[in-house]
Amino acid sequence: MRMHVFSGGRLRMSKHIYLPDTAPEETIDLPVACFLFRHPQGNVLFDTGCHPMVAEEPEMRWGNLAQSVVPTTGSDENIVGELRRLNLTPADVDVVVNSHLHCDHCGCNEFFSKATIYAHEDELERARRPRMEKLGYFRADWEHPMPIVGVTGEVDIFDDGSMVLLPLPGHTPGLIDMLASLPHSGAYLLASDAVALRKHLDMEIIPKNTWSRDLHAKSHAEIKRIEKSGALVVCGHDLAQWSAFRRAVDFYD
Ligand SMILES: [Zn+2]
Repeated sequence: MRMHVFSGGRLRMSKHIYLPDTAPEETIDLPVACFLFRHPQGNVLFDTGCHPMVAEEPEMRWGNLAQSVVPTTGSDENIVGELRRLNLTPADVDVVVNSHLHCDHCGCNEFFSKATIYAHEDELERARRPRMEKLGYFRADWEHPMPIVGVTGEVDIFDDGSMVLLPLPGHTPGLIDMLASLPHSGAYLLASDAVALRKHLDMEIIPKNTWSRDLHAKSHAEIKRIEKSGALVVCGHDLAQWSAFRRAVDFYD
């Protein structure tokens, strides 16, 4: 099994949302990551990033949210463009996992019309409520005809331990991480916003954009336990860590 790391866009936000001790006028640049796994039983994509439209017309897609979550994405910097570099199209993807349903994690779901979607039941329930756009949930991102598997507990995608989904709520009610075990490179915990920045885990910081601080702290404790067992924690939006990854056509196996 191989893991490819792709860009799903880039965002600029107020830094004190992520690091509450910083001045309100400071900003932080956040990469958006997507991960493709090429497994003998199928291609699995973890998160689909931001919709291509946000590179040119962010307010058309995100409305007022685009003023606080500002895309700094290049015009071909999205998962569809990234897959093309591997000579793949969205039709080659069999399974899409959404760590949660914020617009920077499921923005390209619509293109994966041949895939089965995995998302947590609690996340789907929340996204389906009215007027959730101000919290980053847009129906255009996640409401499509593809089959959705509602996750409620641990899920081993191919029943071989290679990709296991772990509910780790806190950032949102239905946040799921993926523990991926590669034959040579070892285990990677794709943490998404359960650990947006490495500093959060190291200094026990809970960012401001958190649904439940208690559950988020519990998820941090569980993630530290998984890290001690040997997995590398891949943070959701950490520019320093992101910059060090092999990306796109290069891969981990
Ligand atoms: Zn995010």
